[in-house]
Amino acid sequence: MLIIGAGLGGLCLAQGLSKAGIRATVFERDPAPNYRGQGHRVHLDDRGERALRACLPDDLYNLHLATRGQPSERFMLISAEEERLREIPFPDLGDGSQMIRTGRGVSRQTLREIMLGGVDVHYDRHLTHYTEESGSVTAHFANGATATGDLLVGADGIGSAVRQQKLPDARVLDTGVRWLGGKTPVTEEIRSSLPESLETAFAAVTGMDPAMMVGYLLFDQSPAGLGLTEPGDYVMWAITVPKDRLPDAIPDLHQKAVSLTATAHPAMRAIVTQAWPDQCFQLSLGTAEPVAGWDPTRVTLLGDAIHAMPPARASGANTALEDAATLTTTIQTESPLAAYEADLRERGFAAVRASTAALEQVAKTIIQT
Ligand SMILES: Cc1cc2nc3c(=O)[nH]c(=O)nc-3n(C[C@H](O)[C@H](O)[C@H](O)COP(=O)(O)OP(=O)(O)OC[C@H]3O[C@@H](n4cnc5c(N)ncnc54)[C@H](O)[C@@H]3O)c2cc1C
Repeated sequence: MLIIGAGLGGLCLAQGLSKAGIRATVFERDPAPNYRGQGHRVHLDDRGERALRACLPDDLYNLHLATRGQPSERFMLISAEEERLREIPFPDLGDGSQMIRTGRGVSRQTLREIMLGGVDVHYDRHLTHYTEESGSVTAHFANGATATGDLLVGADGIGSAVRQQKLPDARVLDTGVRWLGGKTPVTEEIRSSLPESLETAFAAVTGMDPAMMVGYLLFDQSPAGLGLTEPGDYVMWAITVPKDRLPDAIPDLHQKAVSLTATAHPAMRAIVTQAWPDQCFQLSLGTAEPVAGWDPTRVTLLGDAIHAMPPARASGANTALEDAATLTTTIQTESPLAAYEADLRERGFAAVRASTAALEQVAKTIIQT
C-alpha cells in the first residue's frame, strides 16, 4: 500500500497497518523528518486518543501517554483590557455542546516523532500525479521516482495533489484568516502573568488588536528526557489577522509577530518577545466544501486531504486520526472501501460544518467582547 504524506493521519495509518501485519510505505515531500518545524500544540480528545490506542504498538502508545500535556477541558476568553489578565467565560454555543471536547494538549512534533518509529518513510518524494492500471496504482514523484501498489491513500493535507486529481471539482475555500504561531518557554514571569485557569484550557484573548490565542503545553514527562526533540514546557500562541495584514513569505516571522503586538497588553508582548524565534510559523486557514459521493477505486483519501477545516473546535487532527483507524479496520477486515468513504464524508464534513460555524462565532465574540 502507498501512503502519500507523513503527517499525523498518514503516519497513524502506517502504524495501524503495520500492527495488523499489512505492508505500507509512506512517501513524504519533505527532504528529511526534521526539515521544518511541525507547529505547536494540538488538542487531542477521545476521538484521537481512541485511534492512537488502536493503531500504535504498545511501546509507542506508552511513549505517547508519557509525553502528553496536561488535561485541557474547555475554551475560554481572556480579557486584556485591564492591567491584570482575567478570564471571562465563553458564551454558550446554544446547542448544549462545548467548543472543544475534553482532552489534552499534545505536541504535534513529539507525536509525529513517536509515530515515525518503525515506519518505512521515503523522503523527498513529492507526488505530482498517479496512474491507475488494472490491478495496481502507480505514484509519480517530482524527482522522477515511481512506486506501485494495490491501493494509494492521499494523506497529503489541505493542498492534496491526490484530491486535485481524483476530485478536480472539490474546492478548499480560504477563510481569509492568517495564523502566525509560536512557542515560548514557560518561565515564572510568564506563568504568573496568565490566569491560573488557563492551565486546563485554551483561550482567545479579547480587547486587543490583533486578536491572539494562547494555551500551555505542560508535558507529563519531558520529551527531551525520553530521547525526543521538544526541549520542554511552553506557551503556544497565535496572532490571527485578516490576510491583508500578513502577506505570504515574510522573511522574519518572529520580528513580524513582535511588531504586530508592539502595543498589546504587556503580558502578551512578553510572550511574543520571549518566543523561540526559529519556531514561529505562518498558516492560512482553509475549509473544504462538501463533496458528493464517488465510486471506489484504487485511490482513496483521509484527513485534511478531503475534509480540511478551521481549528476552532480542535477537530482536524482528531478526525484525521479517526479516519486512519477506520481505514485500518476496513483494510484489515476486507470490508468495502465504499463504506469507509461514506463514513469519511459524513463524519468529516459534519466536523467541517461545526468548525466553520465555530470560527465565525469566535470571531463575532471577540469583536463584541
Ligand atoms: C493552526 C492550526 C491549529 C490546529 N489545531 C488543532 C487541534 O488542536 N486539534 C485538532 O484536532 N486539529 C487541529 N488542527 C488541524 C490539524 O492540524 C489537521 O487537521 C491535521 O494535521 C491533518 O492531518 P493530515 O495528516 O491529514 O495532514 P497534515 O498533517 O497536513 O500532513 C500532510 C503531509 O503530507 C505531506 N505532503 C503534502 N503534499 C504532498 C505531496 N504532493 N507529496 C508528498 N507529500 C505531501 C506534507 O508535507 C505533510 O507532511 C489545527 C490546524 C491548524 C491550521
